[in-house]
Formats: sequence, C-alpha cells, structure tokens
Amino acid sequence: MIVDKITPNEFMQYEAEHSTSGKNEWLLCIDPKFSKYQIMLNEFFERDVYPTYRLDKSGNVLTGKYEDKEAIPITFSSLAERPELLSGLVNEGYVSKNDSVLAYHCESCKVWVIKDGIHRLSKWLVEKLNMKITVYEVASNDWSHATLDMPNYCKCEK
Ligand SMILES: [Zn+2]
Repeated sequence: MIVDKITPNEFMQYEAEHSTSGKNEWLLCIDPKFSKYQIMLNEFFERDVYPTYRLDKSGNVLTGKYEDKEAIPITFSSLAERPELLSGLVNEGYVSKNDSVLAYHCESCKVWVIKDGIHRLSKWLVEKLNMKITVYEVASNDWSHATLDMPNYCKCEK
C-alpha cells in the first residue's frame, strides 16, 4: 500500500468540500498526521472502521446523534451481517461517483471513524463490492481532547 503524506491544507480542503459530520474535530487531537492512500474495500473493512451512526439502545436502529450516550458503535464489518440496518443510509440518495472517503484514525487503539463517505461505503458494503478506494486520513495517537464523534469510538483511557 502506498501512503502519501499530504499537507494539512489538502486535507482541510477535502474535508471542507465533502464532510458534513463534525468538520475539523481533528483540530483537537495531538500532533495530527495527514495522509492519502488507496486500499481495496475488503482490506479496509477488515479494520475497525466505524460510521458516525451507532446502534441506539433498542439495538435495531442506527442513530447519527453523537450526543446520544447510550448508543453503541458498530463496525462496517459487523453491519455487513445486518445489512437491513443500512437500508436508510443506502437509500438516502447521496451516493456519488466519488470513490474517496475521509477517515479519522486513532493510532493508539486502532479505530477509524468515517467522517465522509458513510453512504457510499454502506452501499458498497450492501452490494458486496470490492474495489479500490482512496482514503483521506488524519491520524493521531491522542484524541482525548476531541469533543464530537471521536470520544464515542476511541477506546483509549481518558
Ligand atoms: Zn484511541
């Protein structure tokens, strides 16, 4: 896998144009590192990759409310076994020809949180596609000061 370092500006530009979910949360992480790489979907889904939608307390509905303290994170690979949960996301019609996603990554606990591309990834997952995607990633080993999505996913001690 070839990983290209990118500048903070390049990352910010992609995020400004695409992300709707808590832009710039990475400003609160320590020593962010920015990169861009291509990876096959199957390989990407083997990681602990999470959408910013979590299971609500019923366990049967996905909620996008980061402030819901009872909601439980679920990885894309676990969602592959429960594709019915994704029908709402897949049918919202945001799917574009874009094959890029934007991920926040905690290097310490090895989680990836998708901040842009959730609808596309959901559709590809449901359709069992395996293709090469481009990941714009900001990585840090300390997200303890983050205040939006990352506290719901980062498993590091606070
Ligand atoms: Zn962590």
